[in-house]
Amino acid sequence: MPENISTSNEITFASLNLAQPLMRAIADAGYTTPTPVQAQAIPLVLAGGDLLAGAQTGTGKTAGFTLPILHLLSAKPAANPRPGRPRCLILVPTRELAAQVEESVQTYGKYLPLKSMVMFGGVNINPQMKSLRGQVDILVATPGRLLDHVGQKTLDLSAVEILVLDEADRMLDMGFIRDIKKILALLPKQRQNLLFSATFSDEIKTLSDGLLHNPGYVEVARRNSTVELISQSVHLVPQRLKSHLLSHLIKHHDWKQVLVFTRTKHGANRLTEKLIADGIPAAAIHGNKSQPARTKALAQFKDGTMPVLVATDIAARGLDIDQLPHVVNFELPNVPEDYVHRIGRTGRAGSSGAAISLVDKEESQFLRDIERLIKREIPVVEIDSFVPPTNLPVEAPRPPRQGHGQRRNNGPRTSATGNRQQPSREGQARNSQGQKHSPGNPQQRDQRPRNPQQREQQPRNGQPSAKPRPPQKTAEQQHLSEAARHQAMPQPALFSPKPGVRPGIRKAR
Ligand code: AMP
Repeated sequence: MPENISTSNEITFASLNLAQPLMRAIADAGYTTPTPVQAQAIPLVLAGGDLLAGAQTGTGKTAGFTLPILHLLSAKPAANPRPGRPRCLILVPTRELAAQVEESVQTYGKYLPLKSMVMFGGVNINPQMKSLRGQVDILVATPGRLLDHVGQKTLDLSAVEILVLDEADRMLDMGFIRDIKKILALLPKQRQNLLFSATFSDEIKTLSDGLLHNPGYVEVARRNSTVELISQSVHLVPQRLKSHLLSHLIKHHDWKQVLVFTRTKHGANRLTEKLIADGIPAAAIHGNKSQPARTKALAQFKDGTMPVLVATDIAARGLDIDQLPHVVNFELPNVPEDYVHRIGRTGRAGSSGAAISLVDKEESQFLRDIERLIKREIPVVEIDSFVPPTNLPVEAPRPPRQGHGQRRNNGPRTSATGNRQQPSREGQARNSQGQKHSPGNPQQRDQRPRNPQQREQQPRNGQPSAKPRPPQKTAEQQHLSEAARHQAMPQPALFSPKPGVRPGIRKAR
C-alpha cells in the first residue's frame, strides 16, 4: 500500500460527472463537497473496475458506492428485466445497516426510475416475497434471509452486475463467511465487485484476493485510528455507581441524544430500567429484542423523542445517526477494536462528538489496551457535581472481568483521585505466573468467541469469583471533580499514523 495521502479539497461533486438526477438528490441532501472516500471511490466505480475500500462507517462510504452504482445502472438499461432479478446486490452484516443503506439508495435515487428493496431476517418473509414479484434493481440484504429467499426460489441472482460487500470485516466477525461463499457461487462470473471494510485482517485479505480482480484501492482514516473530531474522556467510577453517574451526567448536562454501550444484553435491559426509573426515557436495542422493537427504538432515538438508546456492540454496528453528540461506554469492550467501532458512531461526517467511558478499576487493563491501539492517552476527567447515593444495597459478589486483557499483577494505573500513574511498559508486564505478557500473544487473548453474537450471550469468564468484592470506599465515590473535567477537556483526536502525516486518503492505484 503506497504512503501518499491526499485530500479531496479540489474535488467537487460537479467534477465527478454524475448524472443530473443524482446531482439534484445530492443538492437536496445538502451535501456541498464529496467526502474523501467519495472523491476517490466514485471515479473508480464509475470506471467499472473492482474496488477495495478501507473506510469506516461515518466517512460517507455509503454514498461512495451508492451514487456511482445508481449512475451506472441508470446509464445502461437492464438486458433482460424480470421480476425478482436484481442488477445490484449489496450485502451487509446487520438489519439496521441494511435498512440504512437502502434508505440511502432511495434518497440518492429518488429522481431515477430504479427500484430498490431491503431484505433481512427477524421479520415476516411474505412482504419481501411480494416485493420480489415486482421490479427490483438494487437489493440490500443480510446474508441469512437472502439465502432463505434463494431456497424458496423467490429470488434470482443470475443478473447481478454489481456486488457490494459492505462492512465485510464485521460480516466475517459474525461468521457469515460460509453464507457469503454460497451467495458468490450464485452470481454471474462477470460482474463488478466492491468491498468495503473498516479493517484489513488476514481473513479480509483472503476474501478480497479471491473476489476482486485488479482492484482500485482507497483508504480513509487509517485502520484503528479514531475519528478526528471525537473528544474522548474517561470517568473513573466503581461499577455499582455507574448507572447513578450516567443518570447524573444526562440530567446535569441535559444530553438530548446519547448512545450507551453495555457489555451484555442483560446489562442493557437493567440499565434501561434504571434510567427510566430515574425519569430518563430510554430504550434498549440488542439481539434478544424483536425486530419491530429494535426498529421502533431506533426510529424514536433518531427523531429525538427517545434521548437514550442502550445497545450492545452487535446491535449498534453500523448505526448511522446524524450528528450523534454523545456515545457512552458504560463498560469498556475487552476487544479494543470494538472501542473504535463504538465511538465511530459520533463525530460523523464532519460533526463533532464526545465519547465518554465509565471505567471501573477492574477495567484499567482494557483501557490500556485501547490506548495502545489508538496510540493516544484518553484524558481522565473528574466530576465534582456528582454526589453518589448513600444507601446503596450491598453489592452481590461479581466474577472478576477477564478478557484478552486478563488482569495482571501490574495494578491499576489510576489513583483513587483519578490521577494517572505511569503505565507499565508493555514488554515488561508479567502476569501472575510471571509470564511475559505480549498484546499479540493469542494465548493471552480473550478466550471467548470472536463472533460478537456469541460473545453477547456469554459471560466474560466462566469462573465465578470465590470472594465477594470488598465494598468501595466513599472517597472513591467522590473522586470526580467538575473543575478538572473542564481543565482536562480533551482535544480533538488528531491522531496521525506518522508524525507530520495528515490522516486522509491513501490511494494505491
Ligand atoms: P456513512 O459513512 O455512509 O454511514 O455516512 C455517514 C453520514 O454522512 C450520513 O449521515 C450521510 O448522510 C452523511 N454524508 C454522506 N456524504 C456526505 C457529504 N458529501 N457531505 C455531508 N454529509 C455526508
